[in-house]
Amino acid sequence: MLLSIVLPVYNEQEVLPVLFQVLPSVLEKIDCDYELIFIDDGSRDTTRRILNEAAQQDSRVKVLGFSRNFGQQAAITAGLDFANGDAVVVMDADLQDPPELLVSMIEQFKQGFDVVSTQRIARAGESLFKKVTASAFYSLMQRAVDERLPPQCGDFRLFSRGAVQAIRKFREQHRFMRGLVAWLGLRETIIRFHRPARAAGETKYSPMKLAKLAWTAISSFSAMPLKACLIAGLLLTFFGIGYSFYAVYAAVFVTSTAPGWSSLVCFQLLFNGATLTAVGLVGDYVGRIYDETKQRPLYVLGDSVNIQASGCANRVVWINPPDSSDDQNSHLYRAPQVHRDSENHAQHSDAKRAA
Ligand code: UDP
Ligand code: MG
Repeated sequence: MLLSIVLPVYNEQEVLPVLFQVLPSVLEKIDCDYELIFIDDGSRDTTRRILNEAAQQDSRVKVLGFSRNFGQQAAITAGLDFANGDAVVVMDADLQDPPELLVSMIEQFKQGFDVVSTQRIARAGESLFKKVTASAFYSLMQRAVDERLPPQCGDFRLFSRGAVQAIRKFREQHRFMRGLVAWLGLRETIIRFHRPARAAGETKYSPMKLAKLAWTAISSFSAMPLKACLIAGLLLTFFGIGYSFYAVYAAVFVTSTAPGWSSLVCFQLLFNGATLTAVGLVGDYVGRIYDETKQRPLYVLGDSVNIQASGCANRVVWINPPDSSDDQNSHLYRAPQVHRDSENHAQHSDAKRAA
């Protein structure tokens, strides 16, 4: 089995020497081949030089150098594009994602899960501000992006080859990898862990960068902000209609009403309501156009029975493609099949892979 480890790095010269001491020693204990794919996200310090030197000494170290800073989500995408492993793990380079967890992640993968996520049950070495903003981020994401997003789960994840093939089909510009994983509905399990402090260096996420990531996540998964306009417009219109009755009553029966007040109030409320409603309607169409431009697959297939993949293999997102001699994707690794009723599903998947 080949394990690919994808590590996005941005100005991490302090932490890389520690990483190169710790990570390989953990990986040597795991019974599998591995490759380390570093994505240098446009670092301006000596990160690229350290990575290039490591790659010269060990061919299992691979480096993808971005021309500028494209962000961690783009770096993860590049890593998944170039990973060759049967399983691919995405992890931070600062050792906040403990490499020791790889052992249990691989165990879960061998049980047949397509995604092994990790959940932080405690966060060491982070300021109160960071903890509060992070927990607000996760609850906002769950409400606005996808309710299946598990809280406190970052990008430290293992993906089966089938899951990686599926994710590669998403080429949208504004990316939020955790949202994509939830959207795909992959077979997922969660491992809980205590998150240690950074081994060295400082966080690369300023509050502004975190806010941008939150907005990317919301805007690429939900048209709620646009719909809010329509809802506000309709509410204002109904309120306007109700208040118009009162304004007419006041004009006729209350002598102290200033001349022109009633008509001004009525027109103001009704026209504002109508304008917001119209903007909301346009927004709804814009939201649909946005959805179309993302060109996401219409559906994602998990398992299938008695189905040949020929002809449509390139168009369909298939996490566990069926065996077929003329399947255009037949060279792909097949993620272990899980038979939920069977007790010895692990043995079954091993036998399948050997065949
Ligand atoms: N990172 C990146 N590009 C960026 C910001 C961060 O590749 O624009 C990398 C960074 O080098 C690290 C990982 O993403 O390996 C997580 O970043 P960080 O540790 O700063 O985030 P935090 O753990 O503080 O949320
Ligand atoms: Mg970190």
